[in-house]
Amino acid sequence: MVVNEIDEGPGFADLALGPELLKALTGLGYEEPTPIQREAIPPLLEGRDLLGQAATGTGKTAAFALPMLQRLHAGHPAALEADGGEPGGLVLVPTRELAVQVSEAMHRYGRDLGTRVLPIYGGQPIGRQLRALERGVDVVVATPGRALDHIGRGTLPLKGLRMIVLDEADEMLDMGFADDIEAILQETPENRQTVLFSATMPPRIDGIARRHLREPVRIRIEREAPAAGEAPLIRQSAYIVSRAYKPAALGRVLDVEAPTAAIVFCRTREEVDSLTETMNGRGYRAEALHGGMGQEQRDRVMGRLRSGTADLLVATDVAARGLDIEQLTHVINYDVPSAPESYVHRIGRVGRAGREGVAITLAEPREHRMLKTIERVTRSKIAVEKVPTVADLRARRLELTRAALQESLMEDGDLDRFRVVVETLADEFDLVDIALAAVKLAHESTGAAADEEEIPEVTPRPQRAERGARDDRQGRDDRRGRRGGGAMSRVFVGAGRSAGVRPQDIVGAITGETRVSGREIGAIEIADRFTLVEIPDGAVDEVVAALRHTTIKGRRPIVRRDRDGAPRGRR
Ligand code: AMP
Repeated sequence: MVVNEIDEGPGFADLALGPELLKALTGLGYEEPTPIQREAIPPLLEGRDLLGQAATGTGKTAAFALPMLQRLHAGHPAALEADGGEPGGLVLVPTRELAVQVSEAMHRYGRDLGTRVLPIYGGQPIGRQLRALERGVDVVVATPGRALDHIGRGTLPLKGLRMIVLDEADEMLDMGFADDIEAILQETPENRQTVLFSATMPPRIDGIARRHLREPVRIRIEREAPAAGEAPLIRQSAYIVSRAYKPAALGRVLDVEAPTAAIVFCRTREEVDSLTETMNGRGYRAEALHGGMGQEQRDRVMGRLRSGTADLLVATDVAARGLDIEQLTHVINYDVPSAPESYVHRIGRVGRAGREGVAITLAEPREHRMLKTIERVTRSKIAVEKVPTVADLRARRLELTRAALQESLMEDGDLDRFRVVVETLADEFDLVDIALAAVKLAHESTGAAADEEEIPEVTPRPQRAERGARDDRQGRDDRRGRRGGGAMSRVFVGAGRSAGVRPQDIVGAITGETRVSGREIGAIEIADRFTLVEIPDGAVDEVVAALRHTTIKGRRPIVRRDRDGAPRGRR
C-alpha cells in the first residue's frame, strides 16, 4: 500500500482509539495522526499482522504503541489479574537508547490505562530488572540479547504474549541479532500478533516476514513525485544537529539567512509553545500558531505577522493549513516532516508566483534516512550544509555593520555634526583608531544576541546501499572485518572491563546517539580501565561529541580521539 495525500484524512478520534488514549494524545499536543499512524492503527486494532517500511521521524512508535496499548486492555478490565502480571506485549529494539525512548513513549500514551511498561537492555543491572519483572509488567521493551538472557533464566515468560513488535528490524540484523530474534520468536505463542517495522526491506527482512508474519498488511511511506511544473522555485537545504543544539542552530540559521518572514514547523503544540518562548528569549519576534487557539487569537497573530511586528511564525501543520502569507521567504522544518507529502505541503508556502523561496530542515542524526526518502520521493535535492560556525556568524554580523556604515556614508546625511568629536579626538589619537572605536560601538549597538556557543558538527551517515551488502552472521563481539575500505580512527573511552563495559554497551551508545550504524563500527578493545573503539574517520568528531553527552554503565567517562589513533586503513 502506498500512503497518499495527507490533507483531509481522519483524525485520531476516527481511528477507534479509546478515550484514555485520545486524552493522552491531546495532552501531548498531537493534533492529527501522521500518515503511517493513519494506515497502521486500524488494521492493528483489528488484530492483523503488519509489515511497515518507515524510518525514525515518521511517528512509527505511536503507530504500533497505541494499538498495542488498546488491545492489551480491551476486554480485559482487570488485565493484570487476568494474565497474572505476565507481559502481553513485547517490543524488540536494537539499542538501549531506543528501548528507553519507546518505553517512555508507551508510558506516556498508556498513563490513564495504568499500563506498566518496562525497558530491559544490556548494561543495566539485571537485579533491578528481575524485581520489576517479578512485580508484573504489561509491556516489555527490550534489546534482543538481554531479552534472551531473561528468557533463559525463566524471568521473562512469553506464554501469554499477545503482540510482538520488531522495531528497526534492519538495524537489529546489522547488529548481529538475527539468531536472537529467531530464538525469541520461538518462545512466543503461535497465535500472537506480529508487527515488523524497518527503514529498509532487504531480502533478509523479507525472509523474517515470510516466516513469522501471517498475511500482513503492508505499509510504505512513499508516493509519486509531484508532476513536473508543480514544484515551486525553492532552494532546499538541511542541517544535521542533535536535539540539544536545535534552538541554537535555528537562531544561527535565522541570523545568517535573515528572512523577511519565516514559518517554523513543529510537530506538537507543546513544541510550538516552548520554541516560541525560547526564540523570544533569544531576541527574535516569534508568534505561536496551533490548533488549540481560537479564531480571534489566530487573527491577531496573522495581523502581527502581516504588519511586520513579528517576523517568525512557529506553527503546527494543522494550524498552518490554508495559510497564505505574502511576505513569507523561508519555511523551516524544526523536525523532519513525518512523510514526504507533508514536506511538499510545507515548503509549498514559499516560492509562489515565481519568487524564490527557501526551505530549511533541521534533522537529528537518526532522521537522516527520512531526509533521503523525501529527496527520492520528491525528486529534488536537499543539500546538507554545515551549521554556520561562530566565526561565520561573526563574519556575517561584521558584514552587516559594514553595509550599514557604507549606507550611512553614501547617504551624505548630517554627518557633519559629529565632526567636532572626531577632530577633538584626533589631537590625541590616530584617525584609524578613532574609526575602529566608532565601528565597535556601532557594531555592538546592533544588539545581536551574544551567541558564542559552538554547535558540534555531525557528519551524515552513509546510506546502506553505499555501504554495500555484507555478511553479518559473525558474533556481535567480534566486529573485525565488518567494513569494507575507508580510513578508521580510534576513540578512547575512559571506562573498561572493571566498570563492566561490554562491546554491546559501546555499540548501543554509538548507534543510539549518532548516525554511525552497528556495521560501521570497527574493532572494540576493552581493557581494564578503558576501551578503544574504531570508528570511520569522518565520524570521529560526531562520536566523541555524542559520547561525551551520554552515560555508559551509569557514568560519564572521558572520551577523546585516541592519541595513537592517527587515521589508518583497515587491517
Ligand atoms: P518516531 O518516528 O516514532 O520516532 O516519532 C518521531 C516524533 O514524532 C516523536 O517525537 C513523537 O513524539 C512525534 N509524534 C509522533 N506522532 C505524532 C503526531 N501524530 N503528531 C505530532 N507528533 C507526533
